[in-house]
Amino acid sequence: MLKDLRINNSLTGKKELFEPLHAPFVGMYVCGPTVYSNVHLGNARTFISFDVIYRYLMHLGYTVRYVRNITDVGHLTNDDDAGEDKIGKKAKLENIEPMEIVQRYTQDFHQVMEQFNALPPSIEPSATGHIVEQIEFIQELLNNGLAYEVSGSVYFDVKTYNEKNDYGKLSGRKIEELLSNTRDLDGQDEKRNSVDFALWKSAEGTDHIMRWNSPWGEGFPGWHLECTVMGTKYLGKQFDIHGGGMDLKFPHHECEVAQAVGAHGCEPAKYWLHTNMLTVNGQKMSKSLNNSFLPHELFNGDHELLDRAYSPMTVRFFMLQSHYASTLDFSNDALNAAQKGYRKMMNGLKTLRKIDSSNIEAGELNEKAIGQINSLCDNIYRAMNDDFNTALTIGHLFNLLKKINSVYTQQLPLASISEDVFARMKTTYEEIVIEVLGLKEESNVDVEGLLEIVIKEYAVAKSEKNYDKVDEIRNQLKEQGVVLKDTKAGIDWAYDE
Ligand code: AMP
Ligand code: ZN
Repeated sequence: MLKDLRINNSLTGKKELFEPLHAPFVGMYVCGPTVYSNVHLGNARTFISFDVIYRYLMHLGYTVRYVRNITDVGHLTNDDDAGEDKIGKKAKLENIEPMEIVQRYTQDFHQVMEQFNALPPSIEPSATGHIVEQIEFIQELLNNGLAYEVSGSVYFDVKTYNEKNDYGKLSGRKIEELLSNTRDLDGQDEKRNSVDFALWKSAEGTDHIMRWNSPWGEGFPGWHLECTVMGTKYLGKQFDIHGGGMDLKFPHHECEVAQAVGAHGCEPAKYWLHTNMLTVNGQKMSKSLNNSFLPHELFNGDHELLDRAYSPMTVRFFMLQSHYASTLDFSNDALNAAQKGYRKMMNGLKTLRKIDSSNIEAGELNEKAIGQINSLCDNIYRAMNDDFNTALTIGHLFNLLKKINSVYTQQLPLASISEDVFARMKTTYEEIVIEVLGLKEESNVDVEGLLEIVIKEYAVAKSEKNYDKVDEIRNQLKEQGVVLKDTKAGIDWAYDE
């Protein structure tokens, strides 16, 4: 298997050869959703992108531990530690337990991921399940002189950290500019500098519902901390890949780097990967911008922006037609084109199943065609190895499909390309489409519609008194679990009981 995978590393800004720290093991951490509402299509894009990355790493033969967390506390409505907890706010609004909110939207997230055929991660830890570890981690930062406590809250001291390290290196922010930004915001007066961020927020004297005891009084952890703590716990102080959407680069991931380096003295992740945004009319799809729609709205065609419904696999294909690091703009035209492309790709799988490659007679080999098929297969891997370029991969798969179709129509006889070359073509097409791109055949065929066609045939046979045909249709339908009933009102069908 080709193992010259190159990844565009956000940490260095360069495309680098992928060399895992402990091959064949790969540790990958991806920031999961904040479960305070239904995931929208933009969120789904990020998770589908990482699903393909996970699948391809496994396809290359790596043993991957994929950790994707559930944020169920600490993500505030405002990035500067001054907002409300997103989950707590929703729970208050609906007058129910925060954990009811968490349960409802975690289930929704899982259902959506399954509809998109995304594999579940190896571990899916939650922030509230790791409060003890988060408190211990804060203690370490306090011991290292990189955090300070004020009135029951603990903040990370960015200025002190930056004396020996480089805060801003992941996101390209300049520390001088960050330090000079002294916005006077609610709650910020506790911080030495506005760039400092909360590790622990005091809940004393507030109506914050989710709260735990700590050495600093009752409170709750800051959002950035959970990922560092759970990443360390399940993947070690240093692991291979850390991912998330581009919008998490700052402050979330920058703070994660600072926390990990501050506590352990080493970079947490060797490669940082950031997916780009799904946009609507050029604007990021986001709940707060009111331009987001939910996967089920798409599957039902139930939204003013949609001309009609699109199936989960059509949407998955639409997403894979762009590289994860490029923006992707939503449009009905693009989805219609994706439906055509997806169906064409599925027809390729069907065609391959129909080609009988047993007993190929030895014949004269078409070296030119063999060379073309081999380079098409190489190109597919080359594209995936080029920073998981699914857009290019799909293009090459369609070129390979042309060859598959020529073999099927016998324009290119099987004997002329040999059994081995056919096997390579078949395996490459099937494995990349099914295992790596995660596309599966979905039956959109209307069973009742098909039965109506058969019933018409049956009625014609009856009126012609062609009883052999009548019996044949009856028997064949029975084998499929369907019985026909001749009633006064006409011919009807039912499930065979
Ligand atoms: P959140 O639940 O807000 O923490 O977001 C979950 C994930 O979805 C994060 O990795 C975000 O970066 C990502 N995300 C949010 N909006 C979009 C979008 N419009 N396109 C792609 N990814 C997004
Ligand atoms: Zn995170």
